Amino acid sequence: LVPRLRPFTATIFAEMTALAVKHGAVNLGQGFPDTDGPAGMLEAAKNSLFGGDNQYPPGPGRPELRAAISRHRLRYGTEYDPDTEVLVTAGATEAITAALIALTEAGDEVIVVEPYYDSYAAAVAMAGAQRRVIGLVETADGRLELDLDALRAAITPRTRAVLLNSPHNPTGTVFSRAQLEAVAALCVEHDLIAVTDEVYEHLVFDDAEHIPLATLPGMRERTVSISSAGKTFNCTGWKIGWVCSTPELVAAVKAAKQFITFVSGGPLQPAVAYALDHELPWVEQLRTSLQDKRDRLSAGLADAGFGVRPSTGTYFVTADVRPLGFDDAATLAWELPERVGVAAVPVKVFTDHPDEWKHLLRFAFCKRNEVIDEAVGRLRQLV
Ligand code: PMP
Ligand code: GLN
Repeated sequence: LVPRLRPFTATIFAEMTALAVKHGAVNLGQGFPDTDGPAGMLEAAKNSLFGGDNQYPPGPGRPELRAAISRHRLRYGTEYDPDTEVLVTAGATEAITAALIALTEAGDEVIVVEPYYDSYAAAVAMAGAQRRVIGLVETADGRLELDLDALRAAITPRTRAVLLNSPHNPTGTVFSRAQLEAVAALCVEHDLIAVTDEVYEHLVFDDAEHIPLATLPGMRERTVSISSAGKTFNCTGWKIGWVCSTPELVAAVKAAKQFITFVSGGPLQPAVAYALDHELPWVEQLRTSLQDKRDRLSAGLADAGFGVRPSTGTYFVTADVRPLGFDDAATLAWELPERVGVAAVPVKVFTDHPDEWKHLLRFAFCKRNEVIDEAVGRLRQLV
């Protein structure tokens, strides 16, 4: 393996899921739901599978899916031409990697916010670029937000792009309009490309609102907006994602994408188109049920002695292990499946500054209530 990829040999999700299986643990590590998506979408997939749709779809994606993605994006007030400004990808993961490969090269710098989703650092490395990491900082009321001074300071003449994820995995932070406006102003001032990972766009709680960076002044023409069906429709295994951007940026991402997978998920694409057009009421129910699950797991973790942090989006809540007498959440995470039969993910593995994040564990609440309750019951045995 070439040196630049040596830090990326095993993903934490595969490792923790393997450990959970080995010990029969309740897996609150890897974020995937344990119920299916909307029946209409599954039916549409079945119809395509048995209806002869099993060959290569067109390179940019099936036209009905590109049209549905474009209609869906109108909810934020931005219009994208389905023929030139939308590209279907193998999940958001491929979209992010292809965007970085297409838009950065050796010596370029990409600003990444830690803790960051694990594929980002690997994708920057595969592109041959360098990551410049800035952190989230805690506000007086215990929320996390972008460190805008650090962002400003991280910009150099080599900075090409900012990679931003909101709603944010692993912390459940949804960035405010004011924060996003500050990011947008810096991107415009320094002529940077923004790559936005919006896979949890529908999964926001309380009064949090998902604001796509591309909707802010000066940003549509410099933002590669990325999302996917996995989290919105409980189909993480389908890996149908997409990019919305300008014709030039979409063409660039497509140039890379076409030689990575070419195409993928042909028969699933019409089903995702159906879901985007018809299943948003189902997604609203999913959102409210996830909000309840966030409350259920947060209360359970607090009861078990963890220092639970606020989460206003995604599948995840983070919790401080220090009130339980532990210092390093990673040590605990490796022991937890065997010790009490629960798997979780240490937040520090998503960072370049593990010491600053070592006390946090990430738990996924996208699980049936009885699964959450079972996990909480087991975690109570920790003390
Ligand atoms: N970005 C974030 C923040 C994620 O949590 C995930 C994973 N679920 C992805 C990207 C990957 O999305 P996909 O499965 O569509 O590739
Ligand atoms: N996105 C999911 C998570 O953060 C899992 C993705 C994966 O297994 N690669 O847990």
